[in-house]
Amino acid sequence: MTIVIIGAGPAGLAAAEAASAHGAPVLVIDDNPAPGGQIWRAALGAPTPARAPDATRAPQRLRSVRVDQRGHALLAALRDRHHVSFLFEARSVAVLAGQVLLVDTPNGPQHITWSQLILCTGARELLIPFPGWTLPGVTGAGGLQALVKGGLPLTNQRVVFAGTGPLLLASAATAHAAGAQVIHIAEHASRRQLASFAAGLLRHPAKLRQAAHLLHTLRGTRHTAATRIVEARGDSRLRSVTLQRGGTTWDIECDYLAAGFGLVPETTLARLLGCQTKDGAIAVDHHQCTTQANIFAAGECTGIGGVDKSLAEGRIAGLQAAGRKITPADQQARTHACSFGKLLSRSFAPSAALQSMCRPDTLVCRCEDVTRAQIEGHATWRDAKLQMRLGMGPCQGRVCASACEFLFGWDAPDARQPVFPTTAATLASVPAGPGGDS
Ligand SMILES: Cc1cc2nc3c(=O)[nH]c(=O)nc-3n(C[C@H](O)[C@H](O)[C@H](O)COP(=O)(O)OP(=O)(O)OC[C@H]3O[C@@H](n4cnc5c(N)ncnc54)[C@H](O)[C@@H]3O)c2cc1C
Repeated sequence: MTIVIIGAGPAGLAAAEAASAHGAPVLVIDDNPAPGGQIWRAALGAPTPARAPDATRAPQRLRSVRVDQRGHALLAALRDRHHVSFLFEARSVAVLAGQVLLVDTPNGPQHITWSQLILCTGARELLIPFPGWTLPGVTGAGGLQALVKGGLPLTNQRVVFAGTGPLLLASAATAHAAGAQVIHIAEHASRRQLASFAAGLLRHPAKLRQAAHLLHTLRGTRHTAATRIVEARGDSRLRSVTLQRGGTTWDIECDYLAAGFGLVPETTLARLLGCQTKDGAIAVDHHQCTTQANIFAAGECTGIGGVDKSLAEGRIAGLQAAGRKITPADQQARTHACSFGKLLSRSFAPSAALQSMCRPDTLVCRCEDVTRAQIEGHATWRDAKLQMRLGMGPCQGRVCASACEFLFGWDAPDARQPVFPTTAATLASVPAGPGGDS
């Protein structure tokens, strides 16, 4: 009976290591070509050959590099466990009856049966619309970082980072290391909030050191608090951004604007499986059990809190799924890491003032060209969707649904299958009949 883990980020890798330590068979599925998730993306190396004919084989050898040693240690432990397999470039797109997942793989659709399921699906960025946010050259802060890690050349490109939260600094440091000129970091939180966050970091010395290192790396870059985006300008591409601080507005010429307003837990699969959510994240107990039997969740999908929380929760989920003992030290690590998550949300939760960045004529749904003014007359997501095709384009509401939750206080839309756009062949692989058409 296989323990199936969705997501090979820090939470998924920690869960796989803990679950398989005493011989339980584990399968890890991830839609990226290599393990690592968001933070270790492209840094832990791919299994060789990059795409094996049998994609479920275990990693063999790692190209490798400077990252968090914890990632390497987890992969080194997993590499020699023949009862652990990985399925990369594989996306779980639907939930079928009988504890089966429909998974899109490079070799075609697969139906994967699980006995215990651990959801480590991470988070995605919250993108808040503002005038000009759809111009080429405007990205999410994490999005730009992911592009750079994927090889986007940024040498001598002028980049402005704006929004809120530590991801701005992490992403700016990545851009700087790639040769970009980081010309401004515009943080929306006030100086008081930043000071309170810094004081809170005293309880998290490793994070404090990391913050100091990032600030040192970015020394010389102009950094303002209480600053927000007014508008991104350009014709066929971004040329400048207008920022505002108090009563002052000013323009900065730039090639890229990376705007980040925090993260949103990825809960779609969990909701399709019937797991309850709380405050937008998958609800779990201290053993990472969801409200559904034999389904566990760990990492950013249970609440935003950074890599330490993902590692601690992943380990507990793996132990619990394999029926192993969870020690007080495991629980302490989790509690400490979760307290950093609370500090993050206290300090950087995007404030309602940011709602005014989105003007009546600003596009909210960029796939279907729907503006804020067109949405505002509707009472719910469903109503606006039926009337305006809101959320019916290629992103299937991944971007605009979270924006609408933030702008209008709407509930998250119901989870629908398939979770991601998929091929007709994948859909055709589902047998008709009870459960097959779920
Ligand atoms: C864009 C972005 C950039 C970030 N950069 C940093 C950073 O520089 N520094 C930092 O400290 N933190 C960063 N974070 C925060 C980061 O997410 C956490 O610190 C950490 O990576 C969370 O680990 P996790 O395992 O919970 O989730 P993740 O690392 O997000 O891993 C989840 C994995 O699950 C996969 N997945 C999700 N759904 C499916 C599905 N249906 N089928 C198959 N695979 C699926 C995802 O592709 C991903 O690989 C970033 C977050 C984002 C969104």
